[in-house]
Amino acid sequence: MSDRYASFAHTGPGRALVKRLGLPDPPKLRRYRPGDPLTHGPVRLDAASGGRLVEPLGKLLTAAGVEISDPATTRPAEDDGRVPPQAALLYDATGITDSAGLRALYDFFHPLARALHPSGRVVVFGTPPESCATPREATAQRALEGLTRSIGKEFGRGTTAQLVYVAPGAERAVESTLRFLLSGRSAYVSGQVIRIGPAEVPEVDWDRPLDGRIALVTGAARGIGAKVAEVLAADGAQVVALDVPAAGDALAEVANAVGGTAVQLDLTTPDAPLRLADHLADRHGRVDVLVHNAGITRDKTLGRMRPDWWDSVLEVNLTSQERINDVLLDRGLIPAGGRLIGVSSIAGIAGNRGQTNYATSKAGVIGLVHSMAPVLAERGITVNAVAPGFIETRLTARIPLVLREAGRRMNSMAQGGLPVDVAQTIAWFASPGSAGVTGNVVRVCGQSLLGA
Ligand code: NAD
Repeated sequence: MSDRYASFAHTGPGRALVKRLGLPDPPKLRRYRPGDPLTHGPVRLDAASGGRLVEPLGKLLTAAGVEISDPATTRPAEDDGRVPPQAALLYDATGITDSAGLRALYDFFHPLARALHPSGRVVVFGTPPESCATPREATAQRALEGLTRSIGKEFGRGTTAQLVYVAPGAERAVESTLRFLLSGRSAYVSGQVIRIGPAEVPEVDWDRPLDGRIALVTGAARGIGAKVAEVLAADGAQVVALDVPAAGDALAEVANAVGGTAVQLDLTTPDAPLRLADHLADRHGRVDVLVHNAGITRDKTLGRMRPDWWDSVLEVNLTSQERINDVLLDRGLIPAGGRLIGVSSIAGIAGNRGQTNYATSKAGVIGLVHSMAPVLAERGITVNAVAPGFIETRLTARIPLVLREAGRRMNSMAQGGLPVDVAQTIAWFASPGSAGVTGNVVRVCGQSLLGA
């Protein structure tokens, strides 16, 4: 599904008209291409005094080949007040222990507010409020959310801004997240709060982090699922692509294209979990990454909704996933280092008229992440979910024009996301480097106003 307005707005006459009429101006987002450096330019890294992350962050950046700007050369020049353009602004706020200390944020960001490249990156690092030593420190750390969410809305031109809470002791577990957030892989993720906990992180080949891993992707015949299969395979995974028998041809095409295998199975049949477990046990002996992407909608307002529409949406989007998790976990088919990844929706966060069944199921996916994370942590398995906003797929192409345009523009990027944006976020969760990332629900919505 193409966004004709955005294509027009990127032409010469289109740009002039957009400017004159004050219309939404969707920037061209920097998306990841194989071989891309992490950033296209230097980054500025600084910290409030006493920050515990600035040193490990500096080491990670340098080892990853990212140039860190010298603060002396990134001050506004005396003659024209300009600052040399930066690819990213990174700030370690873990040293802030009370509200007065928040002034350090202004002092850092104010002179640099206009210094970011298009599709620039802002990442603020903090301590999870629940891990803070005093109520005052927790208050100040919670305040960081308002700053990052506002920067995401204010800076424009495809800038993304996130807050990453790093628990004490998790300093060495930030690399996969830092890399994801700096790169073009996170083009449509903004205004998010991400939590990282302590974890043993293995050596990671950042070009092929999933080498040797078995990844099951449900609903892989088309749309977001097909892209997830492609991205996980590009990251090195051996992909098992699953979809209903009726989608067999399209599924085979996806599986062939990614050098994986296809499983035709309706997830809602009573024996689906056992059949899937048998298949994975026989062919692979395990599954390392499980992406529950299959999902359906059956939209009607609640008063007009047939009971079977309620049941089928809950069954596909939530209950069948729980049944599959239970069987695979019971049979020990998801080893330590395993990754469970759900696909929620901003409808599961904000609710949506005509989608009580869908929003219930997608809020349930969030509940599953939060309730299972501590249980699975004991087995060294992480569980997270993406919550996509408006993504350009067949599903959103069916939305009536006016609603579709509203959905597309009502976010900080003034455009819909692409399936690859969701897939790359899933690949970040799937990475062995993301061992400390669990219990997170990350929206891939361009910082949509819905439910924000
Ligand atoms: P899609 O309809 O294009 O693809 C869904 C796939 O799931 C299909 O191939 C379908 O055959 C498969 N599927 C459905 N029921 C199944 C079953 N019982 N067993 C096995 N496979 C089954 O949808 P999409 O837009 O690619 O969405 C993928 C996921 O992302 C869904 O969970 C959806 O709710 C979620 N999502 C999408 C958007 C969006 O904007 N497209 C936004 C938020 C969330």
